Amino acid sequence: MKKTISVLIPAYNEQAVLAALFERLDALTASVKGYYFEFLFVNDGSRDETLEIIKRYAKTNRRVSYINLSRNFGKEIAMIAGIDHVQGDALVIIDADLQDPPELIPDMIKLWEQGYDDVYARRKSRDGETWLKKKTSQWYYKLLQSSTTIPIQIDTGDFRLLDRRCIDALKQFRESQRNTKAMFSWIGYKKKEIFYDRDPRIAGETKWNYRKLINLAIDGITSFTTAPLRIASVFGLIVSCLAFCYVLYLVIRPLFGVPTGAGYSSLMAVILFMGGVQMIFLGIIGEYIGRIFNETKQRPLYLIEEYHQAHDKKQ
Ligand code: UDP
Ligand code: MG
Repeated sequence: MKKTISVLIPAYNEQAVLAALFERLDALTASVKGYYFEFLFVNDGSRDETLEIIKRYAKTNRRVSYINLSRNFGKEIAMIAGIDHVQGDALVIIDADLQDPPELIPDMIKLWEQGYDDVYARRKSRDGETWLKKKTSQWYYKLLQSSTTIPIQIDTGDFRLLDRRCIDALKQFRESQRNTKAMFSWIGYKKKEIFYDRDPRIAGETKWNYRKLINLAIDGITSFTTAPLRIASVFGLIVSCLAFCYVLYLVIRPLFGVPTGAGYSSLMAVILFMGGVQMIFLGIIGEYIGRIFNETKQRPLYLIEEYHQAHDKKQ
């Protein structure tokens, strides 16, 4: 029986790139024989013509599915909305802006047929990104890896092919503050990397800025590991031990006749430092409590305004 490959494309204000994307996708289906394809677009509350363009494409192409979310939820949520609805035996997640070349998909499919469950594309190069962005992302992955025993894939984004069992695994992740990349690592299964050159986006603008990236980074750490809480405990323990020794020393000192001098500066230094440290750790605890709060609300992750299903198989 012919297998179906679903391609999941989250799109937010991507009207400038869609025409080029459709062309590349059509070229893909023309070059790969022996599979059904589904192109599942998730329109993430775009404020431009994105949805209209996708709908027009869906009229002429039976492979196109689309989900229109009720508002902008962010890429992470757009992806789970797609994952919940894919029909394929395998799923490829790809950005709409053609930074991830669809031409890599045939190679992914080959590896999948060899028995790999998660064929992820690792960037050889990152054109069109600043030195600072590359460095900070490198540091972030180092930090994340050092705080957990789950192996994390470096220089890897969401561009990958997932087998059905990975899809079914990911569907079970219902947390609202999502870091999907961490989930790919978490689920495990047979992974295989292939290398590619990440192109600059062909048109339009990136939706990421440093504020969003920092938020994603914090979500990544707090959803992946409780190491910061452990650091707080260990640090508190060390400081308490030191403080206890110092107090002993202060108590014993007068017994040997050493005079106690004025100590305003040292006192202030210690108080201010400890005050700062306590605030930081309270903040960290707050981060986790905030997450508990958000999860206990048990809200739906997204709402769908319209869902259109492809019917490649019926042809
Ligand atoms: N995206 C989305 N919702 C958002 C922001 C982005 O669905 O709120 C999509 C966007 O349309 C693109 C992908 O996520 O297909 C990656 O976004 P972008 O290219 O802006 O990120 P970058 O490549 O700069 O990291
Ligand atoms: Mg991009």
